[in-house]
Amino acid sequence: MTEKFYPNIINAEHVPAAGGKTLDIINPATGESLGKAAASGHDDVDRAVKAARAALNGKWGRLPASGRTKILFKAAELMNARAKEIAELESRNMGKPMLHVLGEVKQAVEDFEYFAGAATKVAGTVPPVHGAFFAYTVKEPVGVVGAITPWNYPIMLESWKVAPALAAGCTVVLKPSEFTPISANVLVEILHEAGCPEGTVNLIHGFGADAGAALVNHPGVDKITFTGGTETGRAIMKACANDIKRVTLELGGKSPAIVLDDAKLDDAVLGSLFGIFYAAGQSCDARSRIYVHEKLYDSFVEKFVAATKKLLVGNPLDKATHIGALAHPSRLPIMESFVESAKKEGGKILCGGHRLTGGDFDKGCFYAPTVIVDLPHSARCVQEEIFGPIVVISKFTTDEEAIALANGVRYGLASAIFTNDVTRLQKFVRALQAGIVAVNTTATALPGLPFGGFKQSGFGREMAMETLETYLESKTVLMGVTGKPLNPFGIEL
Ligand code: NAD
Repeated sequence: MTEKFYPNIINAEHVPAAGGKTLDIINPATGESLGKAAASGHDDVDRAVKAARAALNGKWGRLPASGRTKILFKAAELMNARAKEIAELESRNMGKPMLHVLGEVKQAVEDFEYFAGAATKVAGTVPPVHGAFFAYTVKEPVGVVGAITPWNYPIMLESWKVAPALAAGCTVVLKPSEFTPISANVLVEILHEAGCPEGTVNLIHGFGADAGAALVNHPGVDKITFTGGTETGRAIMKACANDIKRVTLELGGKSPAIVLDDAKLDDAVLGSLFGIFYAAGQSCDARSRIYVHEKLYDSFVEKFVAATKKLLVGNPLDKATHIGALAHPSRLPIMESFVESAKKEGGKILCGGHRLTGGDFDKGCFYAPTVIVDLPHSARCVQEEIFGPIVVISKFTTDEEAIALANGVRYGLASAIFTNDVTRLQKFVRALQAGIVAVNTTATALPGLPFGGFKQSGFGREMAMETLETYLESKTVLMGVTGKPLNPFGIEL
């Protein structure tokens, strides 16, 4: 059987990397090869950026907003029709249970629908000004957008960027993660089938240090929208400073779930379980720190550990599986290093704490869902993003203590609170340093709701009307209406 190849897509043409280099794609649940993708460099990025600029100055730039709406709705329809196929491809590439990926593809569909509707709502303003003038503002697309995405929710996060960028009238060069390139080819093919003119959306595969850095440093790119790790985001922000490129950063997290003493215990256990173990903890908004009031602490821990032991880890294509494989073999030693440091820092491992071995587990990257208690606030597992199925549960006594612990990390993405006391809830809502506060649930990402972080979790919001603003420039038009220009010098001609 010939090996599958995932090429770049530039100007609607499927092309290998100019230098002929490729990167390997593997199924992290089985270790099998899924083929190769182009490993691009500066020349490929340059071609893609030029194609995107030409589309902006050409057919795409001339299309009215209503034309963009039609294309985005069509793309949503085509994606929906292929949802199962995409989910299976992505599940094999990323290791997440297929049924979960299917939900994410459906969310990507909704995101396209949301921004399809939003495209025609972009409008300037008519600000009131001094009577000698008439003024208005117009919104213009920011230009060529470089979109760089991670491996944990590939097609969903790509859609979070591509849909609003196109709705705003921008053109795009997309650089997906080198771990999970496959579904991006389907996405870009769907966009062409839906009617995007050539050059409107271009796909560049490759490693971050090569293709990613070339995109960030390309002077023809007007804006970078990035989702990924905080250290990468810091480097990208510095690089964007050279040309004063616009930049949106959705970065890491170390989000808390807080369980107050009046919470419904079972709801808090189940909500927190989903909050950490969905996607094997590989979510930027994973609630990887759980703070439980001392009155509920013992019973919460007992129930949480019992529930964790019921989670089925296994084949991502099996309907019964709750947790699939970690997305890449490089993730396993990272999990082991965190658990080792927890042990040294006095942590007690109540369940998990090891990779899974034996039978099919030996072929892939499987880690047991892990619960750790008794760690100090300064511990590595409490402070650093683990990005895997490892949670730390801690006890608190007062509301003030819970707030201080929840805010006591460098991140501020998503928090969750379980309580039925609306007065106490408001105190937490005001005090928590987080872009999202979920109440009696650990859900976060719904189309129409702004998604993004405080502090070192980044800035800018995705999935909402305010997202469009990040892909737009505002132009102020000021007209003198007295028939005479301002002439404060009093000079006569
Ligand atoms: P990563 O930062 O290693 O890589 C993300 C992307 O950036 C990849 O496409 C990679 O190739 C590229 N990249 C790497 N170095 C680059 C460079 N120097 N210049 C340009 N591009 C570069 O992140 P990851 O490991 O793929 O993803 C995990 C991280 O993403 C976690 O920290 C997670 O919290 C974060 N994340 C955040 C959100 C959010 O919305 N806040 C959502 C999902 C994931």
